[in-house]
Amino acid sequence: MTQLAHAERAHALLGASKADQWINCPPSARLQENIPEKRSEYADEGTGAHELSELILRRRLTPCNSAERNRLDKAISDFKASNQYYGPEMEDAVTAYVEVVEEHFMAAKARSADAIILLEERLDFTEWVPDGYGTGDVVLISDGVLEVIDLKYGKGVPVSAIGNPQLRLYGLGAWSNWNYLYSINEVRMTIVQPRLDSVSADTLPLGELIEWAETVVKPAAALADAGEGEFKSGSHCRWCKVKGSCRARADENMKALAYEFQDPALLSLDEIGNVLYVAEQLKVWAKDVEDYAFEQAKKGVRIPSWKLVEGRSNRTITDKPAAVDILIVEGFDESSIYKPRELLGIGDLEKKIGKKELAALLDGLIMKPPGKPVLVPETDKRPELNSVDNDFAGEEFEV
Ligand code: SF4
Repeated sequence: MTQLAHAERAHALLGASKADQWINCPPSARLQENIPEKRSEYADEGTGAHELSELILRRRLTPCNSAERNRLDKAISDFKASNQYYGPEMEDAVTAYVEVVEEHFMAAKARSADAIILLEERLDFTEWVPDGYGTGDVVLISDGVLEVIDLKYGKGVPVSAIGNPQLRLYGLGAWSNWNYLYSINEVRMTIVQPRLDSVSADTLPLGELIEWAETVVKPAAALADAGEGEFKSGSHCRWCKVKGSCRARADENMKALAYEFQDPALLSLDEIGNVLYVAEQLKVWAKDVEDYAFEQAKKGVRIPSWKLVEGRSNRTITDKPAAVDILIVEGFDESSIYKPRELLGIGDLEKKIGKKELAALLDGLIMKPPGKPVLVPETDKRPELNSVDNDFAGEEFEV
């Protein structure tokens, strides 16, 4: 059981966090192998939230003597004092996540008194995946039931636990490590995404999980390890490091562009529907290609027919206090030279004050007006509006 600092964890070639990619597109693993991970502010923020959660969970849910309790208390205070991303928003999110873990652990203990909780456990699933391992945020083991719980701190993309290969692999790893001690029949997987108020869960009988590992994971892992198999683009390309220059993805998108329209002169509604769908996909791809080309150009690589130039910039006042003094002396009053004061938006206030705290303080003063109609694919989870023409006459539609 190795415990590594969150930011220093090595990433396995066929790690659980990338499983959606290498299962769906096996050669993608070797193709990205030597491309360094890009750290981002969001990733660092997520790492911080994981570190704090681990400390709090260790302090609250694992047996510790007084020296260990003091160490953890100090580590929590030090984290809060020094982490640049720590604030009410992180405190709220971590608290919400810790509460879910605590609730699940209590339920596990109610099932069997010898239930255990493992934090930041290295989970080895090499039985199905060469060198396959990952680090599970939380594993709960009780008689009959094994649970993995994962914190997703991001709020940009909702992540579902249903059919989630990363959590399934964690489940397999935990089962492999612990089945000699516990008899497990069922594996439960939960993703907590506190900043989206989301807890998503999935459960599989152990037999189904192992069948998935044998029939889907094992063959895909063997191909991925050998750098073989077919490239296949899809939603799993989102986090692929070569998504801006991948030929398979480009071919797929160019195929979509070659859509052949039927006569007559005007597109049918069916065709319009298809064009909208393809356009969504192409917008995302075009942005990825543009980002890739820009990164190359910044490194001095020339992209034929394109060049790097200086962007437009705005004039700026170099010494604002001095400028104010001059304008006041010249007879301009403050109200004519300063912007009017404006209250921060709800999201920024929540960051400073905390989500629950702000909702309590401004109870009755926050309302959510109905959103403007938006045209989305029918797979979107939101319910369809009925009488759009009547209710939203004159509104402009965003596509
Ligand atoms: S971008 Fe998509 S298709 Fe291309 S290698 Fe990556 S995962 Fe595979």
